[in-house]
Amino acid sequence: MKFLADSSLGRLSTWLRILGYDTVYWRGEADRAFLRKAEKEGRAVLTRRKDVLARQHPGLVLFVENDRVERQLVEILGKLDLKPEPENLFTLCLRCNESLKAAKPEEVRSLVPEYVFRTQRDFRVCPGCGGVFWPGTHRERALSALRRVLNPVKGHV
Ligand SMILES: [Zn+2]
Repeated sequence: MKFLADSSLGRLSTWLRILGYDTVYWRGEADRAFLRKAEKEGRAVLTRRKDVLARQHPGLVLFVENDRVERQLVEILGKLDLKPEPENLFTLCLRCNESLKAAKPEEVRSLVPEYVFRTQRDFRVCPGCGGVFWPGTHRERALSALRRVLNPVKGHV
């Protein structure tokens, strides 16, 4: 499942990426170009705007009802009956939505702090922004937040 989220849904976009769902965050107006992109790339539209919902569009348009990102996430997963797969977690760059590539420690040696190089083995690199990622405190925090958020699908994360 791929998404296109409107400009009011930045945090939801990040959470969907953490779960491994390809999500484009649209910073501009939710205009015709916005819907055209969703159609061209086969993305489900996520919006907080009722006028977008009312427009002609051949694809799926989901109106996000909740204000809080935790509830938005549960809402969207529930509406689409999506169950996040543990192996898909943290496979996308949270900054640019690109698929991360596995990298050997030697390849990232010059890019990470020395103690990280010494203590971590599992590195991933983003081909988009060049960011280097490894399982660390951010990941642990995100996982525990997810466990709270995704209570109904506990055991999947
Ligand atoms: Zn990136």
